[in-house]
Amino acid sequence: MLIDGEWVQALSGETFPTLNPATGQVLTHVAKGQAADIDRAVRAARRAFEGPWSRFRPADRQRVMLRLAELVEQHYEELALLDTLDLGGPISRTRLGRTRAASLLRYYAGLATAVHGECIESSVLPRESLTYTMRDPVGVVGAINPWNGPIGMAVWKLCPVLASGCTVVLKPAEQTPLSSLRLAELCLEAGVPAGVVNVVTGLGDAGAALAAHPGVDKIAFTGSTQVGRAIVQASAGNLKRLSMELGGKSPNIVFADADLDLAVPGAAQAVFANSGQICSAGTRLFVQRPIYDEFVQRLAEHAARVRVGDPLDERTEMGPLVSQDQLDRVCGYLRAGVEEGARLLAGGHRLQDGPLAQGYFIPPTVFADVTDHMRIAREEIFGPVVSVMPFDTVEEVIARGNDSEYGLAAGVWTRGLDNAHLVARGLRTGTVWVNCYQMLDPAVPFGGYKQSGYGRESGNEHLNEYFETKAVMLKLSGTA
Ligand code: NAP
Ligand code: MG
Repeated sequence: MLIDGEWVQALSGETFPTLNPATGQVLTHVAKGQAADIDRAVRAARRAFEGPWSRFRPADRQRVMLRLAELVEQHYEELALLDTLDLGGPISRTRLGRTRAASLLRYYAGLATAVHGECIESSVLPRESLTYTMRDPVGVVGAINPWNGPIGMAVWKLCPVLASGCTVVLKPAEQTPLSSLRLAELCLEAGVPAGVVNVVTGLGDAGAALAAHPGVDKIAFTGSTQVGRAIVQASAGNLKRLSMELGGKSPNIVFADADLDLAVPGAAQAVFANSGQICSAGTRLFVQRPIYDEFVQRLAEHAARVRVGDPLDERTEMGPLVSQDQLDRVCGYLRAGVEEGARLLAGGHRLQDGPLAQGYFIPPTVFADVTDHMRIAREEIFGPVVSVMPFDTVEEVIARGNDSEYGLAAGVWTRGLDNAHLVARGLRTGTVWVNCYQMLDPAVPFGGYKQSGYGRESGNEHLNEYFETKAVMLKLSGTA
């Protein structure tokens, strides 16, 4: 683990294995951080926050962030390879993260020098007074990440920390710790002082210790709604600030007037990318009745053509699921879909033969004629499984789209402005993509309504969550 600029073992000396999900083989063992290691990291983060890092002015933080952006670009092949090995993401896909990681760092580096308070004309103090606000970094942040986008998610968590002058203890997911460790090392190389970015690898109990630690001022969590709820409770002791990026069951809506040459591959990509292990995956696919049969058939054909294979092979479009647990979970939903009467048109089973049989592979799966109450239409599967449902009117599809405990994202495919705007306005989701899907921009806020969480990542709003506002009311001496 990297704590206070040093590579250290867990205080207990324990380790745990991380696997390559394409083969089921152990890649390496990493330190098993627990409460005592979290405590050590939080203390280091506090010292750095109060010490060397507090003397970095905005332009100094900007400079190290721009240097980090360059280092991340230079070393991205290595970071992508770590994620391909650890997560199973196809190398053709993990490499694509390079531009986004570097642009995130550069965008936040820009914001670092654009932070300002306000001067206020007070009606309470005499005229000869000065009232202003200043932005104060929130302090020590605990960042807890899921496994589905390790390096991208780690960069996303570091950006507001570095831009605001906070410090961080990052707990990556147990399945995918490797690229976060390398990123923290690059931070040191970029000139980020020791203790500003600490990475504690470990299991859920390490995350829980971070959420409960009285020396942590804020938790930034991305993961499941269930763990999010536990973190809210654990954080109550010292009333931590929280941001929660949680699960989803996102509606993706295709109107009869859509360009099907875009919508078919778009809808497939929306749910099969990263083997469906994306919080905002377009898993509830609503297709308007006049094109329903044609669309479903074309989608099934598309699904059957996706190249599933060795993630290290440059031609591979889809790799395995991340773990045996995830495989078992998804297989449970495949059975539930069939039992509840959905029509299986593609995929639907684990790959059992050939060289992929050792890994956790499930091919793109299409269930048609799904109804709103089936489990595959309601619960987050986090696998390459799409539930297709017909609809008739725009009012109906907005109501059905909103009939979910989640509210993370949504897609609309149409050539009509009315449909696009009505759906964009009507859906209770943090993002609506029209004629595109899964587009993330450093300048555009991303996050959930309802049980998909609160707080936004990216954009100005994100950085605001890393500051306290301090009001200063200054009465000049000698005034009445
Ligand atoms: P998860 O089980 O909630 O785990 C997320 C992180 O929390 C992991 O680092 C985990 O450690 C840690 N953790 C586990 N128990 C904890 C506890 N009691 N207190 C504090 N931390 C704890 O989620 P996951 O299975 O890794 O990821 C899948 C989920 O993430 C999906 O629901 C998905 O929708 C969601 N997600 C949301 C977004 C978004 O932006 N909205 C993005 C990506 C993923 P271990 O790894 O050791 O269990
Ligand atoms: Mg792994």
